Amino acid sequence: MPSVSVPALGHPLVDGKGRVAKKLRISVTDRCNFACLFCMPDKSKVKWLPTADQLAFPEIEHVARVLASMGVDSIRVTGGEPLLRPKVEELVEGLTATRGIDSVDMTSNGWFLKQKARALKSAGLRGVTVSLHSLKPDRFARISGINALPRVLEGIEEAVKVGLDPVKINSVAIRGYNEDEIYDLFDYAHSRGLSIRFIEFMPLDGLGIWNPDAVISGKEIVDIVGKRHALKAMGRMLGKTASLWSVNDGPGDLGLITSMSEPFCDDCDRVRLTSDGKLLSCLFDTEYYDLKPYIRDGGSDAKLEAFIREVVKKKPDGVGYMTTLREGWAKPRNMNAIGG
Ligand code: SAM
Repeated sequence: MPSVSVPALGHPLVDGKGRVAKKLRISVTDRCNFACLFCMPDKSKVKWLPTADQLAFPEIEHVARVLASMGVDSIRVTGGEPLLRPKVEELVEGLTATRGIDSVDMTSNGWFLKQKARALKSAGLRGVTVSLHSLKPDRFARISGINALPRVLEGIEEAVKVGLDPVKINSVAIRGYNEDEIYDLFDYAHSRGLSIRFIEFMPLDGLGIWNPDAVISGKEIVDIVGKRHALKAMGRMLGKTASLWSVNDGPGDLGLITSMSEPFCDDCDRVRLTSDGKLLSCLFDTEYYDLKPYIRDGGSDAKLEAFIREVVKKKPDGVGYMTTLREGWAKPRNMNAIGG
């Protein structure tokens, strides 16, 4: 019988409500070569995080190792645009080799994917989620701030070709911008056997355009796609962000990330590490906890672990209150500097 090596884990990482952290999102940079209007501030006004504060790869791996010893088993590398960080595949390799980590995936805008997909696959990356909010070149440029549609589509093709799996599409649906393309975006993914996730627009944008009327709910999306395909509700697995719908019982499912209309905080199992070493137990945290003092200048793993536990204990209950907001919310950072 093959031997299965089970890492010896310490106590799980539990918050004040009893939720157990299992997933880590790592932002490797706040910088991005795109300027998506639901994410980044005006590029001329953006204040990038100081480079001296940016964690080096060994520091990120250090935090991942300590979190893995507390039961975190999967990692998503994000940003900003993670492929802007030079040699990010070396980090992927280090994270993949971390004891207790079962999978490392990435979320990317796709710009560098054609050239990087193979190296990422060789480094052990499992899958990639590529953001795509329009299939019309002019509109893509308007939403994402760059004329990049053909290049992003080539990146997606390359990711599939080199065997990254899953390759998924993320679309933020915003009224007044792309609601007439919901079916086409779905069809683009589904016809290639890829899964697509529509994310409800969250008030984490840098331009202040968020308002509740701009949010296209998951329910609306099901109505649009359901007019043309037989959809079967598969539900949402505990800890996952997307409620899934199978389509004609085939591959290429539809996922809805209903962060606004139906938040899923009760079983949230994620923690986040920002590129400047802050730990967040919630995307909507208003307080950021700096891990740098525990990983620079001779901090100990025991102290790092104790601090992480203290931070996670304070994880907010949930963001149900957001559904009643009429205006943008006083956020300390925009999405690019948190890591989506
Ligand atoms: N640069 C990469 C990308 O474009 O996918 C990774 C970072 S991006 C912040 C991660 C995901 O967050 C993307 O799919 C993006 O569309 C989504 N996102 C950004 N701002 C958002 C917002 N205000 N509401 C909902 N989703 C958002």
